[in-house]
Amino acid sequence: MSRQRSHLAFARAKQLMPGGVNSPARAFGAVGGEPIFIDRAEGAYLYDVDGNRYVDYIGSWGPMILGHAHPQVLAAIEAAARRGTSFGAPTEAESELAEMIIRAIPSMEMLRLVNSGTEATMSAIRLARGFTGREKIIKFAGNYHGHVDSLLVAAGSSAATLGVPDSPGVTPGTARDTLVLRYNDPQGLESAFRQHGDKIAAVIVEPVVGNMGCVVSSPEFRTALRELTQHYGALLIFDEVMTGFRATYGGAQSILGVQPDLTTLGKIVGGGLPVGVYGGRAEIMRHVLPAGKVFQAGTLSGNPLATAAGIATLKILRDTNPYPRLDQLATRLASGLGDAVRRAGLPCTIGQFHSMMTVFFNPGPVTDWDSASRSDTKLYARWFWGLLERGVYMPCSQFEALFLSAAHTESDIDATIQAARETLASLS
Ligand SMILES: *Cc1c(COP(=O)(O)O)cnc(C)c1O
Repeated sequence: MSRQRSHLAFARAKQLMPGGVNSPARAFGAVGGEPIFIDRAEGAYLYDVDGNRYVDYIGSWGPMILGHAHPQVLAAIEAAARRGTSFGAPTEAESELAEMIIRAIPSMEMLRLVNSGTEATMSAIRLARGFTGREKIIKFAGNYHGHVDSLLVAAGSSAATLGVPDSPGVTPGTARDTLVLRYNDPQGLESAFRQHGDKIAAVIVEPVVGNMGCVVSSPEFRTALRELTQHYGALLIFDEVMTGFRATYGGAQSILGVQPDLTTLGKIVGGGLPVGVYGGRAEIMRHVLPAGKVFQAGTLSGNPLATAAGIATLKILRDTNPYPRLDQLATRLASGLGDAVRRAGLPCTIGQFHSMMTVFFNPGPVTDWDSASRSDTKLYARWFWGLLERGVYMPCSQFEALFLSAAHTESDIDATIQAARETLASLS
């Protein structure tokens, strides 16, 4: 498999953009080597600039649940484009998308459209602080909420829950207002509330984590999240940027049985174009300007192309209900990959939530960042490259989830399992 043209494209890009990319995960830093430059994509396949084809399991990191270049989504984008690409004035389509989301996720009584998941979580945090009049927020190690300063915070020394900057440029002052706790640890959450309860504006959490690999929350943890926030007057924010419309037509919250106060969305609701959403109880959302006083704005928010792509994607999901079939494909893939790894005598734990999953090279159980981080990342890198050589594009990090789309077929899955077996045989 030649990747000469990707090599040249990367050399050029590195002169122009930091690390040659516009988002760091794309640079393959976690698996070593050089990224592949994409020429086009269709259905379940990516085609690189050297003409190689790959079965795609990243799906743009989540949005492409219908597969790439879906004809109805493309038609909707094209029709919208012909009527003008941005007005900076309200459109009926924005209400159509808002109504579809509100119907599908009942805890979202009102919402705002923004342009990315990062913008959604940033705005939700500001709103939570403005609404409660409190300053501190709680997040969990291994959860990712975009590159918001107050959420780019790592756990401090084990004795303290107060966070420290996770990136140069995040000030210690900002980090001090964020408490970083262990995921799936109801006792840790309770003691943080006991200590800081009257200062905590919100708890933000991925109800199912995709960003330390796929890790599902325990029922006890979810109950603690809801009860403790309610008891101490803090808002519960579910970051469903990844899980929204991934496992069912709606949020993971409807499967998990917990209603948050605020929810953030992105990825799938934009159908492959830039959309983020934050919303929740109307009483809270009415605090956003101009209904209320919490400032938040956007030149391209509710952009006609992005809104059209989102509406078209949600309509197809609603009307065709691909979820049962996606679950079947996911079960087939998870059991095939898990068997292959275990038969090769390697440690393996599959983290799975419907059509998103991670093959952890780890004996498990994987329930939080500490246990996830004990995975064999060197082995993961060899697995990644072996599969890529065989035409399968897996996430380029042990700590990212893979995604199935409605365009994947059973024969794609079986070919992937076969490629995994060959890869594992070549590793020993
Ligand atoms: C991707 C993601 C974000 C950030 O969204 P962007 O559109 O990349 O800014 C936030 N939260 C979660 C859970 C995500 O998976």
